[in-house]
Amino acid sequence: MRMMDKRKELLKIAEEIVKCSLCKKWGTGKPVPGEGNPDARIVFIGEAPGKQEAKTGRPFIGRSGKLLRAMISDAGLPEEDVYITSPVKYLPLRGTPSRENILHARTHLLRQLSVISPGIVVLLGNTACLALLDRKAEMTKEHGNSICKNGIIYFLTFHPAYALRFPEGKKGFISDFKKLRGLIAGQVS
Ligand code: URA
Repeated sequence: MRMMDKRKELLKIAEEIVKCSLCKKWGTGKPVPGEGNPDARIVFIGEAPGKQEAKTGRPFIGRSGKLLRAMISDAGLPEEDVYITSPVKYLPLRGTPSRENILHARTHLLRQLSVISPGIVVLLGNTACLALLDRKAEMTKEHGNSICKNGIIYFLTFHPAYALRFPEGKKGFISDFKKLRGLIAGQVS
């Protein structure tokens, strides 16, 4: 699909998210469909919008987002070359999104991914794993691993909020991004 068509398709999906009554049943605030390059080779998937995101409609702009965006830039990836989103598109009413919410919301995410068609999808934490691998991960053991499924490389790491909270998480997050850099270099060379 051409870049222009991808942009149009993503806009259509964003409009559907705006109207989705099921998503709204579990969430509040502005919808946060995601942002970035419609033709990104690498997509970052979080959990759900926080308060800042629900106020603005933009993903990862709070504390976690600052860390994530800094790591992306340190990995040598221009922000405009990647796509950033989450399985859940609205701020969950009860903090952590329920399994039911995630399994519904991922239908929007799966459509976004089929339009973008990236080579690498970075799963930031367990909500992203559940949405795209159908299971939770034991992240302290599995972080830094890559799983190839249907032609896409899924790279497992911590959610940046976990990295901010726990020194072990931060250490792992930093070493995972070094690995990710190697993975990306391997893909483009
Ligand atoms: N955390 C997420 O998982 N997604 C956001 O968009 C913001 C914070």
